[in-house]
Amino acid sequence: TQTLHIVGGGMAGSEAAWQAANMGVSVVIHEMRPKVETFAHRTGHLAEMVCSNSFRSDDHEQNAVGLLHWEMRAANGLIMAMADKHRLPAGGALAVDRDPFAESVTETLMSHPNVSVEYGEITDLPAEGHWIFATGPLTSTALGAAIQAETGADRLAFFDAIAPIVYADSIDMDIAWLQSRYDKGETEEEQKAYLNCPMNKEQYEAFIDALLSADKTEFHEGETAGYFDGCLPIEVMAERGRETLRHGPMKPVGLTNAHNPDDKAYAVVQLRRDNALGTLLNIVGFQTKMKYGAQTEVFRMIPGLENANFARLGGIHRNTFINSPTLLDDQMRLKSRPNIRFAGQVTGVEGYVESAAMGLLAGRLAAAEILGNELDTAPLNTAMGALVHHITGGAEAKTFQPMNVNFGLFQPVDGLKGGRRGRKDRYKAYTDRAKAEWQTWLDKQS
Ligand code: FAD
Repeated sequence: TQTLHIVGGGMAGSEAAWQAANMGVSVVIHEMRPKVETFAHRTGHLAEMVCSNSFRSDDHEQNAVGLLHWEMRAANGLIMAMADKHRLPAGGALAVDRDPFAESVTETLMSHPNVSVEYGEITDLPAEGHWIFATGPLTSTALGAAIQAETGADRLAFFDAIAPIVYADSIDMDIAWLQSRYDKGETEEEQKAYLNCPMNKEQYEAFIDALLSADKTEFHEGETAGYFDGCLPIEVMAERGRETLRHGPMKPVGLTNAHNPDDKAYAVVQLRRDNALGTLLNIVGFQTKMKYGAQTEVFRMIPGLENANFARLGGIHRNTFINSPTLLDDQMRLKSRPNIRFAGQVTGVEGYVESAAMGLLAGRLAAAEILGNELDTAPLNTAMGALVHHITGGAEAKTFQPMNVNFGLFQPVDGLKGGRRGRKDRYKAYTDRAKAEWQTWLDKQS
């Protein structure tokens, strides 16, 4: 049989190895630690959790990340099994005792007859053999350069600059309206590509005050101290002058309030579609280093967003990720080099759970290919499928930024009430549908 090489023994690489090995494929994990360090990892263990010890909500009926837990458990996932084994009490969240967790993942893989681990850095994309690159947010510099040489420099980012993402159905459309600046665009859809939230002078001044006084996080050690590529956080823009935002991302020109055409806005916050379904919108130019609690408070001051629900909040981090929507096929293969797959955070998902999930999928897809019975990618209506479809096609390639799993990525279920009131039923319908489709997908492989 042919060997599957997995580069990076983190959340994704460990899970990919486990899945492929259990399917009977021989696996080599190439892990650079402890020989080559990153600024965040502390040990030489596989699957080290670098920061928080939380796998977030374990609610598989009402929460998308909880659903992803469920799907991975149903697929005999190693990361979930070890997280469950080393679970710490944390209410509805799955908190994990990180050192024993990483030790057990390492031991389980090392003692698997089909798995071996080679310690050392891989610095190029091999032309031969089956490979999964799961090198994570801190992909080594040399490998980053090799990826850029293959994909083009603008297809690999070293930082994310995430603007908050809002559920479209939580926006007050009695206040906001759809219009592109100067009605630009050929089609009506293009002329209405943005959603606008107006502010008067008083609201703007209060908003600037809130930005200036909000709690912010600092860059981690080893991250750049300066900012890059015109991706200034909004609070830094506000610090440079109270008018800076009004002349930047919040400029009110070329827009007419559809609800009140005579009312000239003093400033306008714009949101733009973040996925093909149109269920998610990002706040344009609003990357931020404000703490999560502060973000919710400050962004709900924006007229129209008083009751906004956030699919993800903003941030700026050291984070190496490829432009998956243009580079990967739905089998997670590099289109230009199909012997290479990518998995984990480097594909533009975000978080331990999402990364492990993409490892699980890539491991199964690669192993099936090696065994000569190619497998369909995860079904669209599962959490796994919603996530992989988002990164390999559903997301806007031009503004692609790392994504958490969330219900905004799911196809709507027909015949259910929208809005806040129907939310509980809707989420239950999404998760029921997902579990059934996931089980069918798994059964086909057994
Ligand atoms: P990793 O778990 O990072 O695994 C990648 C592995 O590849 C590493 O072991 C690395 O040593 C190895 N590697 C890299 N380059 C090479 C190479 N060239 N050759 C061989 N091996 C290589 N997520 C959360 O859910 N919660 C958090 O609180 C959180 N905090 C974070 C804080 C920081 C500072 C960073 C950088 C990330 C944080 N993340 C957090 C994201 C988290 O790292 C990922 O969610 C998760 O670890 C990604 O899994 P992965 O397998 O893709 O990458």
